[in-house]
Amino acid sequence: MGNTLDTLEPKEVYRFFKEISAIPRPSHHTEKISAYLEHFGLERGLYTRRDDLGNVVIKKEASEGFKDKEPVILQGHMDMVAVKTPDSAVDPYKDGLDLQVEDGYLYAKGTSLGGDDGIAVAFMLALLDGGYELPKLECIFTVEEEVGMDGALGLDMSDIEGKELINIDSEVEGILTLGCAGGIRLNGKFKLEKEDTYSGKITKINISGLKGGHSGIMIHLGRANSHKLMGRVLKVLENEGVDYRLVSIEGGEKDNAIANNTTVKLVIKAGEDKLQDIIRKCEDAFKKEYEGIEDSIKVNVSSQEAEDTVYYNKATAKRIVDFLNIVPDGVIKMSEDLPDMVETSLNIGTIVMEDDYIVTDQLLRSNAKAGKKEILDAVSKCIQDVGAESVVFGDCPNWEYRKDSPLREKMVRIFKEEYGYEPKLEVVHAGLECGIFCDKKEDLDPVSIGPNILDIHTVKEKLDIESVNRTWKYLLKILQDVEG
Ligand SMILES: [Zn+2]
Repeated sequence: MGNTLDTLEPKEVYRFFKEISAIPRPSHHTEKISAYLEHFGLERGLYTRRDDLGNVVIKKEASEGFKDKEPVILQGHMDMVAVKTPDSAVDPYKDGLDLQVEDGYLYAKGTSLGGDDGIAVAFMLALLDGGYELPKLECIFTVEEEVGMDGALGLDMSDIEGKELINIDSEVEGILTLGCAGGIRLNGKFKLEKEDTYSGKITKINISGLKGGHSGIMIHLGRANSHKLMGRVLKVLENEGVDYRLVSIEGGEKDNAIANNTTVKLVIKAGEDKLQDIIRKCEDAFKKEYEGIEDSIKVNVSSQEAEDTVYYNKATAKRIVDFLNIVPDGVIKMSEDLPDMVETSLNIGTIVMEDDYIVTDQLLRSNAKAGKKEILDAVSKCIQDVGAESVVFGDCPNWEYRKDSPLREKMVRIFKEEYGYEPKLEVVHAGLECGIFCDKKEDLDPVSIGPNILDIHTVKEKLDIESVNRTWKYLLKILQDVEG
């Protein structure tokens, strides 16, 4: 089926896309693609540097007519999210991908395509390889973007000379991304104080049926967080005179997902007769409160027999319940620079029982440096106030929207010339590699673009072929612009 692929334009881009698609490159399995890129640069006599992590930097000197121009940095990641259908003949960890063309899209049969971010790699290789008239290019190929951006974090940028950085890792044509959120993780550690052991009936309360979703880019949707709801249920039980002790509290799938499932196990000492009624009332109240947003909230109570179960004293339950009730959640502040953009948010991702503690995991995000500090202080105070400990980690820098950005101005101007309409300007409420680069190089002026890629990170991922062609032409125009 390679024949149809060979007729696609721009030929030089698809030639390299095909070449890299033959090399397995899931995150944490990037040795081969990294070696391929290094070899590509060295073979052509270009400045090539491959670091211990596997990141590759390749530079190409300016053409004659562009000697007086500033170098331009181009950047994308070489790793991909590799998933396959259960019956796929291709194992993306071992095999090359089976590229197919259909209805104007390029996809890989049975697996994800790696258009995210293989298209950036193919663009850069085509530019480095071809005889285009261009300014000096500094191409950065990072590893492990999809699994915590460790490549970008570890990249030495001391040999990078340019200021203008075009990141090619966006998935919607017509949008220029101009900022991203920084994040920081915060664990709350709530000490477990054993009261006794118990044999008999354990009551289980489960909150489920919530939509969940990405805690950055979906936080503005106002979805419910199941941990917060559970905190409220436990508070009502307390207020209504149900005397309970905590056996466990757990839930949430990931630190970066809105929690959609929480379970507590309790030993009920008194007031059990009120339980069903209270739970039903809570469920009704939540359904009303989240009407139109969450339509399937379920608060379920059941019981099970257990032997020699450890349960914890009232103070233990009070700490976590009070915390869940006072800690803010969701959108904290909207952006003042750009309309309808979240600036600061927070989400309690997971709650686990670990050693002698209940551990909550909060991910705090802000597109402004000051916002991150503010929310970190607020949540730390909530944890302190209930008598628990906090542990801060995973600090990831933001990319602050630049009021003054020559690259943005140039790219907006050329976009209008090429497309005949205004591009959409956006900041994203999630982490991007550009945030890390800005932290390393203060004068950096990044803009992120990319062609349309649908259903990234899934087996249905597909690349819009026409969109690739337009984005390629747009990129060439930006690089070859002599005005700005
Ligand atoms: Zn990507």
